[in-house]
Amino acid sequence: MKTFEDLVKEVQKPGLCHRCGGCVTFCSAVNYGALELDDNGRPRYKDVTRCIECGICHAICPEIDDLTDETRQNVDWKPPIGRILELTVARATDPQVHRQATDGGVVTGLILKLFDDNLIDGAIVTRPTGRFRREPHLALTRDEIINAAGFFFDTSHGMKNYSDQYLTYSTIEAFGAVIKKGVKRLVFVGTPCQIETVRRMQALCLVPSETIKYCFGLFCSGNFVFAEKQRKQLSAIGGFDWENVKKINIKEDLMIHLKDGKNIRIILDELEFMKRFACYFCRDYAAEMADISFGGVGAEDGWTSVIARTTIGKSILTDAKKSVLEACNYDNAASTAKKALKLVTKLSARKKKAASANRKALEAHAKNK
Ligand SMILES: Cc1cc2nc3c(=O)[nH]c(=O)nc-3n(C[C@H](O)[C@H](O)[C@H](O)COP(=O)(O)OP(=O)(O)OC[C@H]3O[C@@H](n4cnc5c(N)ncnc54)[C@H](O)[C@@H]3O)c2cc1C
Ligand code: SF4
Ligand code: SF4
Repeated sequence: MKTFEDLVKEVQKPGLCHRCGGCVTFCSAVNYGALELDDNGRPRYKDVTRCIECGICHAICPEIDDLTDETRQNVDWKPPIGRILELTVARATDPQVHRQATDGGVVTGLILKLFDDNLIDGAIVTRPTGRFRREPHLALTRDEIINAAGFFFDTSHGMKNYSDQYLTYSTIEAFGAVIKKGVKRLVFVGTPCQIETVRRMQALCLVPSETIKYCFGLFCSGNFVFAEKQRKQLSAIGGFDWENVKKINIKEDLMIHLKDGKNIRIILDELEFMKRFACYFCRDYAAEMADISFGGVGAEDGWTSVIARTTIGKSILTDAKKSVLEACNYDNAASTAKKALKLVTKLSARKKKAASANRKALEAHAKNK
């Protein structure tokens, strides 16, 4: 049986750990308490004597392929970018949600609808906690769900909506609160790597993954570090002042919306200096294992591209289109969806190709050492 030591050798040492926190979450949830996250979000032994060598931390790691086939089967995954039952470009009809959101506010709109219909008790999201900070959060009220909307920052809520260490492990950490509060029906919002970990936990029926009724995945071209040094370099590249920034989001490029109405686009290739190392090896752009995936790419500003992947995901979306969502009408809806799908497929293929090349280079480097 492989153990956490193997995870360190196979995943952490080569720099492939996404810091999704899955290994620590399971170990803590079942009260083994052998693992913890360090201050930088890296898993480590907290108390090696408490490790019973069950090997589960190793099996559920998204970098380990043992459960790939099973998890894919469970969501009826299809090449090249997962199952697609529908692609729609939409936005939330609630002006407050739309104003606060990253793109069209569809993620938040759908969570609120499920909450109002009493189909969930809450959602695992990340919430802004101060200037440049977000933290994992179990949102159990409408206000908490709305306050978690958004991606980076928006001056309407005071430049607090992004974190200097934009780590994906954040949402999974909120699992701890799920157990303490005894909630049973949740939406989990996360990046593709986080969704993958949750799916693996679900494949093994591990606590507390049974509480996740719906997985909402965000498209992801990478996790970028926005610490002071990186912010300085980015403002030099884009020729803008952070004090003048109103909102940021990632689509095909990084979009910086300034208070004076100007928009700056920076191609993602220019952000390599701030990309997290493990993200260079990631193959999933479009959250292929989610019930519904969301991104700004392929949609005009203020709209979200939405892919329903499972039958439950499609029924949530269909229901919401009759109430809390407005489907796009700025163009021919069918051709907008087609164009968005083409773009998502292209970006997914590009990410997979880059990941394979980077893995080969990493392996070659390890052999030559
Ligand atoms: C790291 C990252 C990279 C992304 N890269 C791309 C990209 O390359 N192309 C693209 O089209 N879209 C990308 N997205 C998705 C995009 O930014 C929007 O989240 C998506 O379009 C949904 O917008 P919305 O207005 O419908 O969501 P909203 O209604 O604003 O809701 C967003 C939800 O995401 C949650 N959230 C925010 N940050 C995180 C995080 N770090 N981890 C987990 N949950 C989080 C919030 O709590 C909220 O519930 C990325 C998102 C993240 C977090
Ligand atoms: S990728 Fe996730 S599960 Fe794997 S070692 Fe890192 S934190 Fe643990
Ligand atoms: S690119 Fe996105 S999904 Fe992939 S490891 Fe990085 S944060 Fe996770």
